[in-house]
Amino acid sequence: MNSQLTAYVSLICTSGVLNLYLCAYVYRNRYRYKHVAHFFMFYTASIAIYCFAAAFGLLSTTLVQIKFWTVIQYVGMPISTPLGLLFVMKYLGIPVSRKKVLSLLVVPLLTIIMVATNDWHHLHYRVYEIDSVLGAPYIRQEIGIWYAIHGIYIFSCMLAAFLLAVSYWKETAKVYRPQLFSLILGQLIPMLTAFLYLLGFTPKGVDPVPMVLWLSSLLYLWSISSSRLFTLMPIAKDTIFNSINDGVMVLDESIQLIEFNQTCKEYFPQLNRTLIGKDFHEIWYDLSGNEFPLELDFISHTQEVQLTADDKKRIYQIRTSPLVQVKNSTGLIVIFTDITELKSLQNKLQYQAYYDELTQIYNRRAFMEYCEKDFAAAEQNAIAFTVMLMDIDHFKKVNDTYGHHLGDQLLKHIVSICKNQLMENQVFARYGGEEFALYLKGYTAAEAEVLGNRLRKSLEGQILHSSEGNIPATFSMGIAETIHGTMETVDQLLNKADKALYSAKQAGRNQVHIYMEDEVKVS
Ligand code: GH3
Ligand code: MG
Ligand code: MG
Repeated sequence: MNSQLTAYVSLICTSGVLNLYLCAYVYRNRYRYKHVAHFFMFYTASIAIYCFAAAFGLLSTTLVQIKFWTVIQYVGMPISTPLGLLFVMKYLGIPVSRKKVLSLLVVPLLTIIMVATNDWHHLHYRVYEIDSVLGAPYIRQEIGIWYAIHGIYIFSCMLAAFLLAVSYWKETAKVYRPQLFSLILGQLIPMLTAFLYLLGFTPKGVDPVPMVLWLSSLLYLWSISSSRLFTLMPIAKDTIFNSINDGVMVLDESIQLIEFNQTCKEYFPQLNRTLIGKDFHEIWYDLSGNEFPLELDFISHTQEVQLTADDKKRIYQIRTSPLVQVKNSTGLIVIFTDITELKSLQNKLQYQAYYDELTQIYNRRAFMEYCEKDFAAAEQNAIAFTVMLMDIDHFKKVNDTYGHHLGDQLLKHIVSICKNQLMENQVFARYGGEEFALYLKGYTAAEAEVLGNRLRKSLEGQILHSSEGNIPATFSMGIAETIHGTMETVDQLLNKADKALYSAKQAGRNQVHIYMEDEVKVS
């Protein structure tokens, strides 16, 4: 055996051994690498078959032996390229269905049959004989139609795997790029060699591809052992990332966008893959028309933000949190949770808790809460503080005469008249069925009495005109002013106002009474 042939065989055997080792290594760790393990094992096993058969072919001395090892080579080689493509797809998180797998394996299976039966039809090799000049094991071959089909097919598979890996480059985080690079190179090396072989640029009579496959194997070996090829990226991809209900963006340490998930794309339809690698501040400005509201300083932050898209207002809770890898921050994730519905429900519940449904003014609960607060402040600052309770006169009669519905209408009518006379900061509430309450900070009882009589006269002068007839209404009112320094409570003050109201009722209704110690002032 000449030295050139020895070199060829050694290189090919190296490729075979490395692929066998890779196959065995991944088989041993198949549970850890379960996402891609199977395709990678079949891929490397088929390459190993191809390589060893090629080596035995080069050691053959007769045409029969050479043909036998060629058939064995074809058991591995045609199938290895679609398996390589499937492995790359799996690695990148592209869904691989059973149908896809089977359809990719049809041509390689036909090729095996074609090569095994070539002597009968010569569709793969038109001529396949020992090179008359170089002698065995060098071959002179003329290719047939099926060889061309097979050639185009395996070349397309390698090109597709290569282009797929390249297309994911931009959106792949920097930490994973060495892995992706070795994957790209691992596909490129045999593809280029096969291309040069088909063009006739490689040594005559031998297939050079198995001689370079050890290079791809070394790259994969390095990726698996040093940079955790298989373990992180495919898992982080698609499955988890895109199934998250929150919008997630991943930024690198220089605040450039490196990834976003499907939900994020739904929240911000202008987001697209061409933005990957761009400065996040600029992207955000284009998306929202504003500066990003949170500090991007590798500390966790949370804020609620309202954004308008297509004239629709949405509220998001935005959280940022650093991606930490052994002490160093390697980036940031920004999480968007759409809380629009939650907020509107919260607002609705809050409104219902504080407002009266019929009249849309504060209810008793809101009145008590605000009154307690302002009462305490007035007490502390020795400011006058007065409460007023009003009750509609003979309201039962309205219900009895016109029905409950018109009673309701009258309540709304009264509220509207009173509101017109009151200032924004004067808290007016529906205290009970047809009782209303008002408190006035900074008003003495005498000043409140003026306001009370103004309200009273206003109502007296504005009859409710309804389809059932004209309904006049009046109210009676009781007023009580706090006396500072007596440790009086709001309840006690309201009690006094109630006594004054009772007095107003007793005195004939449609009047305002002020509570005074041991007597009630009548106005
Ligand atoms: P007075 O002058 O003594 O206050 O006589 P009145 O008839 O107004 O007596 P009272 O204050 O006890 O009447 C309360 C009535 O108000 C009883 C109830 O049917 C009616 N009422 C309470 N809440 C509502 C309401 O939301 N809608 C209607 N239509 N009526 C209500
Ligand atoms: Mg009443
Ligand atoms: Mg009443």
